[in-house]
Amino acid sequence: MIQKILIANRGEIALRIVRACRELGIKTLAVYSEADVQSLHVQLADEAICIGGPKSADSYLRADRIISAAEIADVDAIHPGYGFLSENAKFAEQCESCNIKFIGPKSKSIKLMGDKAIAKETVRKASVQTVPGSDGPVESEAEAVKIARKVGYPVIIKAVAGGGGRGMRIAHNDVSFAKEYHVARNEAEKAFSDGRVYLEKYIERPRHIEFQILADSHGKVLHLGERDCSVQRRHQKLIEESPSPFMTPDLRKKMGKAAVRAAEAAEYENAGTIEFIVDAKGNFYFIEMNTRIQVEHPVTEEVTGIDLIKQQIHIANGLELEFDQKDITFTKHAIECRINAEDPARNFAPSPGTIGLYYSPGGHGVRVDSHVYSGYVIPPYYDSMIGKLICFGATRKMALERAYRALSEYLVRGIKTTIPLHRAIMADPLFIEGKATTAYMEEFLSRTTPELFS
Ligand code: ADP
Repeated sequence: MIQKILIANRGEIALRIVRACRELGIKTLAVYSEADVQSLHVQLADEAICIGGPKSADSYLRADRIISAAEIADVDAIHPGYGFLSENAKFAEQCESCNIKFIGPKSKSIKLMGDKAIAKETVRKASVQTVPGSDGPVESEAEAVKIARKVGYPVIIKAVAGGGGRGMRIAHNDVSFAKEYHVARNEAEKAFSDGRVYLEKYIERPRHIEFQILADSHGKVLHLGERDCSVQRRHQKLIEESPSPFMTPDLRKKMGKAAVRAAEAAEYENAGTIEFIVDAKGNFYFIEMNTRIQVEHPVTEEVTGIDLIKQQIHIANGLELEFDQKDITFTKHAIECRINAEDPARNFAPSPGTIGLYYSPGGHGVRVDSHVYSGYVIPPYYDSMIGKLICFGATRKMALERAYRALSEYLVRGIKTTIPLHRAIMADPLFIEGKATTAYMEEFLSRTTPELFS
């Protein structure tokens, strides 16, 4: 049984893992960069080791140093969190070969689902529908144009190694295709050192609906319902909720079964997410699998009452899941707002610096997952998320009202944040009606004066 875990991450997710471990009586080792000495996860873990300089490439991405730290501190397992090395098959393999349990899927599942083209082919074989497009990476511009015409414009050009919405461009005709194709390739090369791209039909105004999967090492694969993550800016999620206001029991059954089949096709183990886009008619298409815990996992936890981090550790221990599909119920509504250190009134410019006063909301139905506090200095080296506000209640209306109330209480002085933007969205009739698609944010921003968010 796992007795000590190294947390190969930082910020709120590192703290989230420390908390789960403490409740389970498992010791924790934080590894941190020189820029994160003050971070809460470093202070609250049982032990901490500095692994390098502020840049991720010198610390959180240094598999060699992380594994050395694991060996020095004699840990049994590594939890990778999200981002950084969480979807790095080589890192998972290195852990495996050093006899350190990687809390996540087997490296071969990461590899399979990490290549988006192979992932699509794998799930198609399991009768899960994917968006029409190229069969794998396109070889040349000439071939790409041919496929784009066949699929029919608009098309979306995506990086094979993609993530975080980077290396993704939309083309509406041959002329824009030629330009966007090169931009996408360059962006992908820069971001992932892999310039290969593939094409998909661009589904207009879809919803992004994803399913949480838990799979144990004994072949049991379950889904924990959906999260609607349609509120996105530049393909990056801002708000997530469960259940989806679009969902019906029938569609949930169909999509849930497809998600389970997709995970089974990847011989998946541990927690993962199957992402779909869904059109207005309820046709759903697999877009990718995330082979790790996700930022938005708390909404599922609040709706199902299942602690996903503890389940990850339970599964990593080789134990069977203690419940079946029929035991999983969705009796609440939960919504998460990502609080980023960005200025929504100035085109979301990063706003690092020192937090003056910090006061996070509380009360009935409010959860805040955050690693910051009054006087905390936000380092400029990492992503801009400083916390997540998760509000829940018996109905969607209650969850939204609670979120509005909690956002009004949330004080973060000294820097700009997305809090005022979230508050405006919680009061927006279109959002309240549950009509948001992935086109929502752009529309919302174009009809709202930025001063509202300052
Ligand atoms: P990433 O791995 O970079 O996050 P995804 O493939 O998960 O990329 O897509 C991110 C977002 O981009 C989706 O949530 C959706 O909003 C949009 N998107 C992706 N594929 C399509 C598509 N074929 N049509 C319309 N929108 C898409």
